[in-house]
This record gives sequence, C-alpha cells and structure tokens, in this order.
Amino acid sequence: MLGIAGMRWSINVGRISGIALRLHVTFLLMLLVIAYQGYAMAGGRGAFWSLALICAVFTCIVLHELGHSLVAQKLGVEVRSITLLPIGGVAALRTIPENPWHEIAITVAGPMVNVIIAAVLIPIAGLPRHLFIVEWPANLLGLLNTLVGVNLWLFLFNCIPAFPMDGGRLLRASLALVIPHRRATWIAATVGQGLAILFFVLGLKYSVMMIVLAAFIFIAAEGEERMVRTRGMLHDIEVEDVMMREFATLAPVDTVGRGLEQVYQTGQDDFPVVVDGRLLGMVNRQTMLEAVNRGGAARMVSEVMDASVPVVSPRQKVSRVYDAMLGDGFGSLPVLEEGTLVGLLSPDNISRYLLVQSSIKPGRRVPSPVAGQTPPRPPVIATAPPTAAPPPRAESAPPPGRA
Ligand code: ZN
Repeated sequence: MLGIAGMRWSINVGRISGIALRLHVTFLLMLLVIAYQGYAMAGGRGAFWSLALICAVFTCIVLHELGHSLVAQKLGVEVRSITLLPIGGVAALRTIPENPWHEIAITVAGPMVNVIIAAVLIPIAGLPRHLFIVEWPANLLGLLNTLVGVNLWLFLFNCIPAFPMDGGRLLRASLALVIPHRRATWIAATVGQGLAILFFVLGLKYSVMMIVLAAFIFIAAEGEERMVRTRGMLHDIEVEDVMMREFATLAPVDTVGRGLEQVYQTGQDDFPVVVDGRLLGMVNRQTMLEAVNRGGAARMVSEVMDASVPVVSPRQKVSRVYDAMLGDGFGSLPVLEEGTLVGLLSPDNISRYLLVQSSIKPGRRVPSPVAGQTPPRPPVIATAPPTAAPPPRAESAPPPGRA
C-alpha cells in the first residue's frame, strides 16, 4: 500500500536504502497472539514455525513495499518510511505523483515483487494445495509452500481495484491518462465503494473478515477522494492567500517562561524568534514545555529554538507546502519575502481555508485572487513585550477621562 503521512505508535527498527523501516505496535501485539496460538496448537515447535511463517510473510511484505519505494526513488519521489501493520505494509511517500505514468510504475512494482517471489519458490516448494487457506507449516518445505500461496494471495488481494489497495491506485492512474486526475479519483473511489458494499453483503453470508475488509475499503476510498479534493482546492492558492499576517514573535533574549505566557495570551503554538525583523528560528509550545519541565524556565528562547526550520515564500503553492507539513508532523512555517518575515503559515490556516471553502455552495464561491493582483497588505506583527516589563492590557489608546 502507499500513503503520504507516517503512522503514530510506530517503532523504528532500521533503514533500507535510506528508508526508515518501522513496526506499528499493533504488529508486535499480533506476533504475540500468533506465537500463543501456535503454542496452543502444537507446543513450542508450533510456536516456532508459526512465528517463522509470520516473519517470512512480513519479509515478503517489506519486499513488496520496497518494490514501490525503489521505483519511487528512481522517479525522484522521496520515500519517508515503510511501516508494518497487522494488515500489511504502508510505504509513505512524500507526495503521490500526479503524473499517471509515474503512479502506474510505482504501483505495479509492489505486486510484481510478489509474483517474482512466487515464481522463484514454486520450483522448490511446489504450488500450495489451497490458495485461500493458510496451512500452518511444520517444517521448512511446508513454510516455503505456504509462502508461495501467501505471495499469490498478496498479488491477487492488491489487484482488487479499490483504495487503499494497489489496484485502486492503478485504476485511478489508468483513468487519469485520459480524464482529469480529480475525476479519475472520484470514479476509482466510487468503484471501490461499490466493491466494499459487495464484500459486505458477501461477508454477511460467508465470513466476518470480509465485513472488516469492506469497512476498511469503504473508509479508505472516502479518505483518498477527500485528500485529492483537498489538494485540488489547495492547488489554486498561494501561501500569501491563507497565511497569518498578525501574530506574535519572540525576541532571542525572551525567556522560555515568557514564551509560554504568550501561548495562552495569543492562542499561538509556534513563535518566530526575530531580531530587527530578521528571523533566527522558530520555537514551539512543546519545546518550551519540555525546557520548563527540565528546570529551564529562565533559559533564553534562542537556546531552545529550532534554527533550521524550513521557510516558505508568499508565492509558493499551498498544495506543495501542505504535503511537506503533513509528513513533517504539523508545525507552523515562517513566510519570508526577500529575507523579511511577512507571515506565518500554520496547518490551522489551511484547515480553516478548507473549512470555509467546502462549506460554501459551489455557485457562491469567491474566486481566489489571481497571483500578483492581491492588494498589498502590510504585515502586522505584534512582538511580545520585553521580559522585564509587565504585558500591556490593550494596544489601543488610553481610556478617555485620564490625563
Ligand atoms: Zn502495494
């Protein structure tokens, strides 16, 4: 499977070709359950061969994901991680390419790996007796035989034309060769949901697992469709159309304690650290809380800030920035024009934009301003008051009636 965002609750276990390999905690739980079942059926030997089979199966799944990943890397798409879940693996790409040929190449590479593994193993271990029943092996030959079946099954399963399976992606990319990408996604998602309903009905008659699969496919189709719709909405706008122009900044000499006061006084979680209009870095709530909990409330924010935070330009497409934000775990990015801080772009800005746009009826939508035609608005940047002085109550003129 392919996705964009990484998974929480995952443990790094190593790197292959620069790609982090991660195990989701539910995967480790599954290993325990399988080992227990194997033990219950056939004692220590049963537990050993059950675990050996599972490890072999997941090695095949890693190879499948590596098939996607290596082709993606060849096509210039960065691969963040491969995460193993009980239901399979997910290769998280930085972006899903919008060039349909690239998407086809990346998608096909995964299932082809399973075909190759099966083709290599069949001369050694032969074809499995049943394709849809996993036989728990009692020796190495049995294990290889089962593995042939598993790889054929993985191939067929991934060919189901429904997101998040590779077949869904392949269907979308093939359609996108002749019709627009968004329309292609809509059709592929609808086909997937149709199949999900079919699996649900069949599941009622035959197997609970099919009902689970149906729910899984139904939700994934909706997610993919929403993601593409979201990206489409963000395609036409630039950073300056959604960025915050009014926000608080911190001075490098402000204390962490002072910075944390700003968290509740301004409602911001991320603060640019600025001296004379020049950006030095960013500091966020989490970093400052960690510093305070280690007894560093009096430390200067310049000591804890992130000085290597990526910056964006006001004219950058929001869709590009959004992918990076999703993958890097949601933080605000400073917007710089000719070296000067002019805005702050937070994930919240983007979600609010999407909320507004998706709530307006299509006919009533305000067209987004064409680049270069936006009337220039000066940024209003409120600097946090110096550490020593008490924060002023209001920025307006003193109330009348007082000298
Ligand atoms: Zn795949």
